Amino acid sequence: MRTEFLPFSTPTIGDDEINEVVDSLKSGWITTGPKVKRFEEAFKAYVGAPFAVPLSSATAGLHLTLLALGIKEGDEIITTPMTFASTVSMIVLCGAKPVLADIEPGTLNIDPAKIREKVTDRTRAVIPVHFAGQSCDMDPIFALAKEFGLTVIEDAAHAAGTEYKGRRIGSFDTISIFSFHPNKNITTGEGGMVCSPDEAFAEEVSLLKFHGMSREAWKRFAASGTPNYDIMLPGYKYNMMDIQAAIGLHQLPKLDAFIDRRTEIAEFYNAAFADVAEIAVPALAPYEQRHAWHLYTPLVRIERLTLDRDGFMAELKKENIGTGLHYKAIHHHAWYRENLPVPAGELPNADYASDRILSLPLFPKMTMDDARDVVEAVKAVIARNRK
Ligand SMILES: *Cc1c(COP(=O)(O)O)cnc(C)c1O
Repeated sequence: MRTEFLPFSTPTIGDDEINEVVDSLKSGWITTGPKVKRFEEAFKAYVGAPFAVPLSSATAGLHLTLLALGIKEGDEIITTPMTFASTVSMIVLCGAKPVLADIEPGTLNIDPAKIREKVTDRTRAVIPVHFAGQSCDMDPIFALAKEFGLTVIEDAAHAAGTEYKGRRIGSFDTISIFSFHPNKNITTGEGGMVCSPDEAFAEEVSLLKFHGMSREAWKRFAASGTPNYDIMLPGYKYNMMDIQAAIGLHQLPKLDAFIDRRTEIAEFYNAAFADVAEIAVPALAPYEQRHAWHLYTPLVRIERLTLDRDGFMAELKKENIGTGLHYKAIHHHAWYRENLPVPAGELPNADYASDRILSLPLFPKMTMDDARDVVEAVKAVIARNRK
């Protein structure tokens, strides 16, 4: 058994990132400035988005996107139950109603056929989440959006580097929102990016992110700016800082290598668990794509075991293996159970996955010995708790 605890994720931060942050701290310019602009340009170029707005988080991006689209009370937005709370919470906080469509049982991505069943004349938008870094099937989602006049907002928090049919997420003719939280494929500490092909939309998000000041307002204390500014509308405080962008500037060039390494480890897990009846490995979508492997999320077949998923995670912890939970389905959380109850049996695939899913350690810095330890621990826990 391992003697040292293996976390489920930890960021890969090198001297480049550290030195760049130190440079920002010493430069006298800590908050939003030239490094944020450089990171915006670099990220835009990487994903192939015409416009991008750097923010303090993806949650901020979701919030401002919905506000910029004019989402309000009475509107409905269709999304997946297998997501982080903020995807759904931002809909609620805009006064709109989240409508959950069930997932596909294999990829755990939102099922386009189930989206169609949920469309009403109040539906304004659909938010697919590229779960674990695997692209949703975007063609039918875009077709549906066109048919019913809906906006597609891609929650791309897991999908920096993901491709769908040869195109990067971020480059499609729609809004996509990325996260740079420390667990994500690249980090800025905290941070997010809203990408869009629509300049007017990007400008609106940009205004909303910083007190309603016009776009280049950050320059107002620099030699190239003027101290005066105008408030165009009441705005929020969701800007990214230069010390965050400093990290991102050196993470982005490493993203492809990070994904290659994540893929190697995920494929090792897939092979190691292929003949373990108690583990269902994550399914790959049948269409052409590049999986960014943000998470490795098998399902534990608890019906074959004497313990539930939480018990399984507790046993792994005793083996010094950390796990994550992505996700307990949103309608199983306290507030949603109380305020937006989903009738039993309405989301069977999400319910099934929600009770069985866990995230095993997956990050570029881990070694193949670490991965072997994970497999050994999973097998040991199964052997001890088989029915
Ligand atoms: C992490 C995450 C978010 C929120 O990102 P933050 O940058 O932490 O606000 C939103 N949606 C999904 C699917 C996520 O995984």
